[in-house]
Amino acid sequence: MPKTRFAPSPTGFLHLGNARTALFSALFACAQGGRLVLRIEDTDRERSRTEFTEALQQDLRWLGLAWDEGPGVGGEAGPYFQSERDDIYARHYQQLEQAGLAYPCFCTPEELELSRAAQRAAGKAPRYSGKCARLSPAEVAERRARGLPATLRFRVAADAIRFEDLVQGEKVFRGADIGDFILRRTDGSPAFFFCNAVDDALMGITHVLRGEDHLTNTPRQILILQALGLPIPRYAHLSLIVGHDGSPLSKRNGSRSLRELRSEGYLPLAVANYLARLGHSYEGDALQSMTALAAGFDLARLGRAPARYDAHQLLHWQHQALAAAGFDELWAWMGPEVHARVPREQAEAFVAAVRPNVSFPHHAHLWAAAVFGEPLVLNDEAREAVAAAGTAFFQAAVAALDAHGLDFKAFADAVKTATGAKGKALFMPLRAALTGEMGGPEMARLLPLIGLERARRRLDACATKA
Ligand code: GLU
Repeated sequence: MPKTRFAPSPTGFLHLGNARTALFSALFACAQGGRLVLRIEDTDRERSRTEFTEALQQDLRWLGLAWDEGPGVGGEAGPYFQSERDDIYARHYQQLEQAGLAYPCFCTPEELELSRAAQRAAGKAPRYSGKCARLSPAEVAERRARGLPATLRFRVAADAIRFEDLVQGEKVFRGADIGDFILRRTDGSPAFFFCNAVDDALMGITHVLRGEDHLTNTPRQILILQALGLPIPRYAHLSLIVGHDGSPLSKRNGSRSLRELRSEGYLPLAVANYLARLGHSYEGDALQSMTALAAGFDLARLGRAPARYDAHQLLHWQHQALAAAGFDELWAWMGPEVHARVPREQAEAFVAAVRPNVSFPHHAHLWAAAVFGEPLVLNDEAREAVAAAGTAFFQAAVAALDAHGLDFKAFADAVKTATGAKGKALFMPLRAALTGEMGGPEMARLLPLIGLERARRRLDACATKA
């Protein structure tokens, strides 16, 4: 059974790039009838924070993702926090050391920097010189006895490392270019390559979907797993997301956290439909449910070219998701400010009236104020339109309202007959006086919500001082 994972580091809020990795991993697992693991990579004790661990779980759930193993659900391969897996890592360090595949390195940061600078000056890509790889057991014992701090390094053979990436195709790296790399730091903390690879294997991960920025880590991880005799997952490195300026997506060129999108009022299904198409192609361009997105997910449909972030597309999916949303969802989404203004018994009619004109909750709030707010505040254009129509027009409108009530068509026809105004000259002043706006939802839907008394007060105000 395929098993994949999402392995975030809780050092910040989930951004679009990471959220897409999580989404693709979840869609893949679901499409294959497999399992999704959530693993928290919190080995960086300084930067990892519990609040981010909590937030990322909330944000994933908001997006509609669920994991089969991990925080909150447990599972056989736990713990799912790397900070709780030290003893597991210790056993594997030992195994590598005993096999002579890893060795302690006593080089100081200053020595390493000097060596790197010398290599760079000679036009070479810097890598570890291999100095401590050649220490005899006696030399190691002597340094240990002096209490010198040591890292643990992996001994990399010069051979080529090949693997077939499920997105990027065949990849070949030369061991000689990689150089012996660190598995454990002097403070005892595990390096990313190491615990990430060991955990994938021990958690039974068959497929790793992650950003292309991790591609160059993969040969190191394959070497570690081979040395430990552990299974190697298949890798699918997802093409980068770039911003509108073509550079990697960051805060600077438009990326936002899921949290920000949520508080701006994006619907989760809009975000999911947008992200699902960033670097993955779907048949058709209709909004799809999570289940349908999973059913149509196929690694073969992942593209190699960078995916460009496009705020207009995201907005397009927002409109699709809003059009598909039912009353309950929209009403909840409109939020407390709208709930405070719109009487509950008029909520259905209000939502039906304004939904074509609303992209975010603050738009709904604006319409709630336009319908139910008192006194009504007219915007500048609306005030001009009212003034241009003149008081006699609104005196006729008051009479028409008294005669025809909330049937907007009959009411407007009566104003037309009485004043001779038609087209824009008829409808604009009426809309302006009744809603304070020059455009918006259908008046035939708004007038019954505004109600007789309020409508009369609004027209009256224009009849006396237009
Ligand atoms: N913790 C790593 C990250 O957030 C995980 C990389 C991976 O998926 O292997 O970048």
